[in-house]
Amino acid sequence: MSIESSLRADIVEVGRRMYARGYTASNDGNISVRLGSQRLLMTPKSVCKGFMSPDMMCVTDLEGRKLQGDRDPSSEMLMHLEVYRQRPDVQAVVHAHPPIATGFAVAGIPLSRAVLAEVLTTLGSIPIADYATPSTAELPEAVRKYITAHDGMLLANHGALTVGTDVFSAYYKMETIEHFAKISLVARLLGRENLLAREEVERLQELRGSYGIKAPAPICSDPAQPIEGPAGADSVATCQVVEAPAGTGQRLVPDSALGPRARAASARTNQEAEIRLTYRELSALIEEAVRSLR
Ligand SMILES: [Zn+2]
Repeated sequence: MSIESSLRADIVEVGRRMYARGYTASNDGNISVRLGSQRLLMTPKSVCKGFMSPDMMCVTDLEGRKLQGDRDPSSEMLMHLEVYRQRPDVQAVVHAHPPIATGFAVAGIPLSRAVLAEVLTTLGSIPIADYATPSTAELPEAVRKYITAHDGMLLANHGALTVGTDVFSAYYKMETIEHFAKISLVARLLGRENLLAREEVERLQELRGSYGIKAPAPICSDPAQPIEGPAGADSVATCQVVEAPAGTGQRLVPDSALGPRARAASARTNQEAEIRLTYRELSALIEEAVRSLR
């Protein structure tokens, strides 16, 4: 089997898995992979990803001009092109609407808490790219902020995007995101999350290095870092910001130990929810607000 036919077969298989697992409905989602250095192989527009055949794929150049195929390339082609432009190391891009992760994207809650070791070592954090009208040039613009530092992100009120060194590695990151979203949802429904302490996050970061797990940027769990990433519309994230409380000797810490800044962010993103602050946290919040007024 030639490299191209094997890549076509990989896209068909990943599309089948995405649809079977409910990550896409109807004709949603799209998949692409580099075909040599100058071309891309991409799913076509308006087909159900669960029932594709290898001959349906489009071949485009890196500017999105169609070179081969009976159908037009994906309506989210601009987002894929932007990822390949920003990340020469990326070989494949997967976009889907997995329902639990997309629920977090709709609620405006990023998957950035230090909860599961394997998520930290693979994806680090999973931020939310700003809302953008699907299929327009706004979407690559929103993705640009996070894609240099992250292999996976949520897209506000839309879905999720993952990248990898081949079609399957990009797809497995989509599985990891949805699985993590499910676990986070259950823990939050149960009423609390115990978080990995900052020291444990640093240990995992070292393991990532010693196991040679490739990550586009380091994890930062320093509370001095703004938790929403660098400020400014045009700024680009340079690290994977993870919310992890100081452990003071413990490896697991209840989420109530998150600082006032993280709690304030949760309150902003979920204004109906009850939020309890200690007197000290409340004072810190008031002090911070007064400082920002000056
Ligand atoms: Zn979509």
